[in-house]
Amino acid sequence: MEATKLEPLFNLQELEAKLNGNGRARANGLTGWDILSVDQFDRDKLAYIFGRAEEMREMVERVHGVDLLKGRVLACLFYEPSTRTSASFIAAMERLGGSVIPITQGVQFSSVSKGETLADTIRTLEQYADVIVLRHPEIGSARMAAEAAGVPVINAGDGPGEHPTQALLDLFTIKEEMGRIDGLKVAMVGDLRFGRTVHSLTKLLLHFDVSLRFVSPEILRMPLKIMNEVRDKGLDARETHDVADVIENADVLYVTRVQKERFSDLDQYNEVKDQYIITPDLMRQAKEKMVVMHPLPRVGEISPEVDADPRAAYFRQVQNGMYIRMALLAAVLGKA
Ligand code: ASP
Repeated sequence: MEATKLEPLFNLQELEAKLNGNGRARANGLTGWDILSVDQFDRDKLAYIFGRAEEMREMVERVHGVDLLKGRVLACLFYEPSTRTSASFIAAMERLGGSVIPITQGVQFSSVSKGETLADTIRTLEQYADVIVLRHPEIGSARMAAEAAGVPVINAGDGPGEHPTQALLDLFTIKEEMGRIDGLKVAMVGDLRFGRTVHSLTKLLLHFDVSLRFVSPEILRMPLKIMNEVRDKGLDARETHDVADVIENADVLYVTRVQKERFSDLDQYNEVKDQYIITPDLMRQAKEKMVVMHPLPRVGEISPEVDADPRAAYFRQVQNGMYIRMALLAAVLGKA
């Protein structure tokens, strides 16, 4: 029997060359960057990263992984719990052929628990790694680490401060799900005071022509500093305590967890923790084309019956996180 000649589905060399981008990262000024805050991104850089993330998605769907970052090492240093962010950075690095030193669950057994300073830990890790991802409970810790490090540092959450890579994946998800960002009505619900993801996402949305609705209990309102930035931009923005005020018009409903770990008074936490729960009943009042997002983990803010609703995008959002982090790692390592 004559063997059937299989045509290659695509040319791997071509795909790698495309991913290698002939120095486009340098052209975009991202090589060697620390990623500390969303303030570093303008519309051009966002478009660039989103374009790269789309290419990463295409690559993963076709071949699962490539060797773009072969030989490169990522140190993943997490002083606060994380499931998605750490797994997503690890998956991103490995899909690009690099490897990872994960210092996550074991951080309490490491030198950190012996009282080593963050700067010393960072200076040590950079002897092994080409890039460091850091999550730390203090605002400004990522900036401090970046000052100590000679390799790029990526902020994976600095306490209640910022979470820039989450905001990038959130915005990317909005664009992928709704097909655009300009002109949308975005409602954020829950803990807007301590939720770092909504701080970063709001700042990124300031580059677009959007309407913003902030829904929170009185004690968990969006920090004044961010509200002032929103007002300075002249965007249509309003605050409310009631999700019913926003559900009918929202194109994006971004729901957050009340950040228990940031409360010194647990009674206060218990008073506000169940204030908003997104249910199928509530979803019946929402537009047919809209999207429900959540940075996860959820602890009851979205009832599991909503998961089957095609507008529930929170698990697709998780997948987008890996593509965005692949794009970022490739870019800061000069391989985009
Ligand atoms: N995973 C997100 C964060 O690290 C959201 C959350 O924890 O509620 O900020």
